[in-house]
Amino acid sequence: MASENESDVLIIGGGICGVTTAFHLAQHGERVTLLERGQLAGEASGVNAGGLGGVGWGHIPDLQSYLTAGSFEIFKTLQLDMGYDIEFHAPGGLQAVHNAEQWNYTSNRVLKLRSEGYDVELLTTREARTIEPEASEHLAGFMYMLNRGRANPTKATMAFGEAASDLGASIKTGHDVQGLTQRQDGSWQAQTNQGEFSSKTLVLAAGAWSRPVGDLLGIKIPVAPIKGQMWATDPVPPSIFHMIGSAESPHDWSLQPPDTGFPPELTHYGTQRITRHLYGGQTRNGEIIFGGDRQLAGYDYVPDESGIAVNRRHAAEIIPLVAKLPISRTWAGIMPFSMDGKPIIGKVPGLENLFLVTGLASSGFGRGPMSGKLLADYIHTGHPAPVLAEADPARCVTAN
Ligand SMILES: Cc1cc2nc3c(=O)[nH]c(=O)nc-3n(C[C@H](O)[C@H](O)[C@H](O)COP(=O)(O)OP(=O)(O)OC[C@H]3O[C@@H](n4cnc5c(N)ncnc54)[C@H](O)[C@@H]3O)c2cc1C
Repeated sequence: MASENESDVLIIGGGICGVTTAFHLAQHGERVTLLERGQLAGEASGVNAGGLGGVGWGHIPDLQSYLTAGSFEIFKTLQLDMGYDIEFHAPGGLQAVHNAEQWNYTSNRVLKLRSEGYDVELLTTREARTIEPEASEHLAGFMYMLNRGRANPTKATMAFGEAASDLGASIKTGHDVQGLTQRQDGSWQAQTNQGEFSSKTLVLAAGAWSRPVGDLLGIKIPVAPIKGQMWATDPVPPSIFHMIGSAESPHDWSLQPPDTGFPPELTHYGTQRITRHLYGGQTRNGEIIFGGDRQLAGYDYVPDESGIAVNRRHAAEIIPLVAKLPISRTWAGIMPFSMDGKPIIGKVPGLENLFLVTGLASSGFGRGPMSGKLLADYIHTGHPAPVLAEADPARCVTAN
């Protein structure tokens, strides 16, 4: 009989990418072990805003459509068909347009997206205030994204872990992977603080720690740890009904030069702010939560209070009520940003039986479940879905 520490697939990382890969592999009947050094959802996957979805599948779905719309369906299944209460709720998203320049940019974007079959609309401020009564009347308008929603990030990540366990996957928390070796027959061995584990196939789902985990194998996985931070009010009666964002950052990023030396779509170059970004809404427990900053700051979990103040003013420009509510808590987490802005999902070139799922940046919660499914299908069938070509690790993973 095979030892308890032997499996078909070993997954490193118990965030949304790791647990959904485990769940889908277990659905295929693979024997899976997942090693997480802390708790499931202990890092980015448990502290994010829970924002889900995108703009739909479109006429010709690309990788982004697959990851956003596909994950949206998987979250729905978890809540509606599998009986997990993950606080899934999909009222749509409103992106505020602050001025004429952003209005021109957003109207062109909406026209293009609609021509490609995506579900977006341009709303006047008056129209938006009929569905979001606390929205400011002093804005230029809103982009409405029908397929946006929210789930509780910790509950959802834990639920995928539990669903994987129910299908036979072995989920080992408190297991810190400290060494990785490949045997002559191509199989893998992981050394942890609690013993050795082996498998034919190895999956790295280590989020913002992809680089140090890659170092254990002598490969360079170009993922930068980017700090994201958020704040919350005390619970208040239902006041904000959609996921709220702003067109300011997408507009500013559309003007960004291609080679900055930083991953795309950050709010800061070093310590210098280049734009304000915003996402948030109201959770089921009544808290209003917002965040936005994305800064290369190492593994730093201390929220920057000046950034929180900028973010709160930005939120109050859209939902003035927010200015009257004191902040009750703040927090930060570390996101995995690839250097070209694209996900890294697939087989690592040059090393047999080694797969990666990372680089999902600031929207990895909402894109994680389909990333996990596409990778699980690839491992099980031996063939990548054509849509994964854009995410191929071969484009960026090199020897150290
Ligand atoms: C403040 C904030 C707000 C966000 N808001 C949103 C949002 O609204 N919507 C959205 O879609 N996304 C959002 N994100 C991004 C999202 O949270 C991440 O993209 C996603 O959670 C990344 O998932 P992951 O599984 O790749 O990484 P993680 O969740 O970080 O999981 C990686 C795991 O690997 C483990 N690990 C690392 N090294 C080892 C080792 N050597 N041995 C064992 N285990 C190891 C870590 O402990 C960790 O648990 C936000 C992120 C932050 C920080």
